[in-house]
Amino acid sequence: MAKCTQCGKEVSFLQRDVLTGACRQCERAGARPASLGCGTLILIAIVVGLVTNSIRNDVSAMHRDMSELEAAVERLERTSTQQLEEIRALREALEVRGTDTPQQ
Ligand SMILES: [Zn+2]
Repeated sequence: MAKCTQCGKEVSFLQRDVLTGACRQCERAGARPASLGCGTLILIAIVVGLVTNSIRNDVSAMHRDMSELEAAVERLERTSTQQLEEIRALREALEVRGTDTPQQ
């Protein structure tokens, strides 16, 4: 059992207003939303919304960063493979030249 925030009468949870915490009688009598309850709920909703949003943004930004990083690594791997092949080709060319040209 919960107490009405207006008259203090014990009422079931379902009989209380979600925002004001007032019983039905008090609500009918025109109970204004308890500033703390209502404001706190709205604040919590805003904070939860902001946090959820920022987490969602962080996660998607992280995914973006990760795929960019993966693409960069792939490019780097390709470049380094190309360079290795280039070095191998140059070395082979040098070796061929070395045997072709007489030693001085
Ligand atoms: Zn009441």
